[in-house]
Amino acid sequence: MTMDPMRSDALAGLIAPVVDADAAIFWAGVAEGRLLVPSCRDCGRRFLPPLPCCPACRSEAIEPIEACGRGRLYSWVIMRRALDPAYAEAVPYVVAAVELEEGARIFARLIDVDPEDPAALVAEMPLALRFVEIDGQRMWAFAPATSSEPAKSPR
Ligand SMILES: [Zn+2]
Repeated sequence: MTMDPMRSDALAGLIAPVVDADAAIFWAGVAEGRLLVPSCRDCGRRFLPPLPCCPACRSEAIEPIEACGRGRLYSWVIMRRALDPAYAEAVPYVVAAVELEEGARIFARLIDVDPEDPAALVAEMPLALRFVEIDGQRMWAFAPATSSEPAKSPR
């Protein structure tokens, strides 16, 4: 298992995303290797997935901010059975709920961890954003942060 952040991972298991108007900026960011988090100009709430208005105050004054790439493992599930044929080659794999340093949570594939190692996953462990290719589509993923990607201490 390598931790080279420049490595380009090619993974299997993706149902192609349907990009609607609310998420167009988000997906354009992904295509550029940037994770853009919608941020409410009125109340400051940062949220994902992209929505037409702020989930806290319903303001439509939403602007994207670029995530710094640091996060923490909020929760996870180890997928051992392919619930769709698209995931047949991917199992077992880990889906994580990642709490971004910006405050929003995002679901992501967790890479560079052994799904069969119970010690590999620890709540609050620091994670680092990576971009990978899954079935030909550029997607975000997270991996355990290395010493060259220091994570901020918990709030
Ligand atoms: Zn708001």
